[in-house]
Amino acid sequence: MARRFKEKRLVIASHNPGKVREIEELLSAWPIGVVSAAELNLPEPEETGDSFAANAKLKSDAAAFAAKLPALADDSGLTVDALGGAPGIYSARWGGPEKDFDAAMGRVNEEIGDNPDRNAKFVCALALTWPDGHCEIFEGDVAGTLVWPPRGEKGFGYDPMFLAAGDTGTFGEIEPEEKHAKSHRAAAFNRLITACLPPAA
Ligand code: IMP
Repeated sequence: MARRFKEKRLVIASHNPGKVREIEELLSAWPIGVVSAAELNLPEPEETGDSFAANAKLKSDAAAFAAKLPALADDSGLTVDALGGAPGIYSARWGGPEKDFDAAMGRVNEEIGDNPDRNAKFVCALALTWPDGHCEIFEGDVAGTLVWPPRGEKGFGYDPMFLAAGDTGTFGEIEPEEKHAKSHRAAAFNRLITACLPPAA
């Protein structure tokens, strides 16, 4: 049985404003005060793990131990079938130090080249660590295809080139509520909520 989350405060162990915003929106139905690792000036640990889950745990452990509060981390990325799963856990790094995801999307498109297989998945691992070291991990994904050129200004990262299966609008075009209903982050979140959080009032 997963440990239930009963605390009133939670650190979001991320310095990525797009992720922090989405996690805040997903948690808004619960009376939990959230603060980001960036607001607390917590250092960003190096992501040396070899999986989304390992990297999520590295981040949630570091934030929980530094802040002495429970901490939730998300490690996520885009896995492209034609690229053997790349950029995968290196999705953020493909944006370079400038976090230039127009360039990263261009690289994905270029590396796919004329391969007709444009299937991809967004994958998300969420790790929730308590200051005593207990950790729960939940994963989710969403399957789709990659379009070119990118479409839409909403979301972040690779959203404008990702078309979820059955959709006509990319994650850059659909409303945030729609993305939250089907995204990899929402899938992982639903598992976390079912296991650890009481029903929202
Ligand atoms: P990390 O989890 O901090 O290593 O970064 C994950 C990277 O994957 C982000 O910087 C984005 O480029 C990409 N990514 C993760 N989730 C999403 C999403 O929901 N939409 C678009 N890109 C995403």
